[in-house]
Amino acid sequence: MTFNDDADIRGGRVSRRGRNVAIGAGLGGGGIVVVAVVLIAQLFGVDLSGVVPTTGSVPDSSATALNQCATGAQANDDMDCRMQAAATSLDAYWADTLGSTYTQPQLALFDGATSTGCGAATADVGPFYCPNDETVYIDTAFYDELRSRFGASGGPLAQLYVVAHEWGHHIQNITGITDGLDLRASGPTSDSVRLELQADCLAGSWVAGASHTTDEHGTPFLKPPTTAQVSDALNAAAAVGDDRIQSTLGSGQVDPESFTHGTSAQRDRWFSEGYDEQTGGRVQCDTFGVSGREL
Ligand SMILES: [Zn+2]
Repeated sequence: MTFNDDADIRGGRVSRRGRNVAIGAGLGGGGIVVVAVVLIAQLFGVDLSGVVPTTGSVPDSSATALNQCATGAQANDDMDCRMQAAATSLDAYWADTLGSTYTQPQLALFDGATSTGCGAATADVGPFYCPNDETVYIDTAFYDELRSRFGASGGPLAQLYVVAHEWGHHIQNITGITDGLDLRASGPTSDSVRLELQADCLAGSWVAGASHTTDEHGTPFLKPPTTAQVSDALNAAAAVGDDRIQSTLGSGQVDPESFTHGTSAQRDRWFSEGYDEQTGGRVQCDTFGVSGREL
């Protein structure tokens, strides 16, 4: 999936935290950023002496500071800009779809460890959404793991699928879908599996809709994805199926009763269900309304 070079991807709310320098795009001045960096250093014992400045401003060690990400061309080249472009495009798509129900989540990129409204997080937990602070947390090193540990082909659309899946959890939160679910239980037809497969479906809807969603100047954010790009995303969805992970990374035994996200086939299927070009990404994704057999 490729962003249109001249698409306007500016938008606030994306920040980078953790071992790399925090960039306070849209979050306030340098002073606040410095405090956050020091707090993280204390919580995790990360040596940040090299990045906490003695005078007011915070130096930027990343390739492109997020607040310099402005165009689709930058998003195609630079991973942080791609994450910001994903956020801007997801906002536009979901605001279009949900109208005034939609509220924007924050997107925090981190490397190593960070503190969150849901407690301290390390890279071990993978990408996640915290409803307490309505923030999507992406450890960007996970993208390398998708390839090296989970055996996915990777690629930009696979990265965007991960962000769009977590955005799906935000949509579930603000529309009340998450209310009253029993998310401690696991199993092939559990609420957890239904919730995760729905997030995959919502990610697929965005992929279908994003090339029809435009920036303020009428330029679509994304070019329609190629077949190869879609298969990259499907491949990433399948790579993180419970059965695949258990058989290749766990004990080798597949135990459906412990499933929390669904099988590779189910994740592939529900992403595809959302990615229906006929409806331009306007589907129901009703994983809670189908029987266990249909899931
Ligand atoms: Zn999820």
